[in-house]
Amino acid sequence: MSHGEELLRSKGLRVTRPRLAVLAVLSGGGHLEVDEITRRVRDRLDSVSTQAVYDVLGALTRAGLSRRIEPAGSPARYEARVGDNHHHVVCRGCGVIADIDCAVGAAPCLDPNPTHGFEVDEAEVTFWGLCPACQARRSAEE
Ligand SMILES: [Zn+2]
Ligand SMILES: [Zn+2]
Ligand SMILES: [Zn+2]
Repeated sequence: MSHGEELLRSKGLRVTRPRLAVLAVLSGGGHLEVDEITRRVRDRLDSVSTQAVYDVLGALTRAGLSRRIEPAGSPARYEARVGDNHHHVVCRGCGVIADIDCAVGAAPCLDPNPTHGFEVDEAEVTFWGLCPACQARRSAEE
């Protein structure tokens, strides 16, 4: 049994070729837009519709096998790194995204006070800045 099959079965999901292909694409790392995922899935399967890829991503995300992030101004992106409450740093110049380990590791890593009676389970933390390539470009233009 492949690793992808084991993952799907461990979450009680039916094993299908599109699901295996999307998992394989995500396991390559990164934070991928649906267009990019679809392109890479089509390299592996003859034909798969964009809607099918959306459906698969929805099922994988609900099952906790992929994580969906949507930084302001960016389309939704998906990644295979799940379960560690890591954060992201987004480049204001080119939009590239990198992972940032959470100092605490478990959500919510920030304790609000007061909570206004809410049972808080998550703090959405996104860091913004300039990536090394954009810093170099900026220096070159100065
Ligand atoms: Zn950049
Ligand atoms: Zn990430
Ligand atoms: Zn944190």
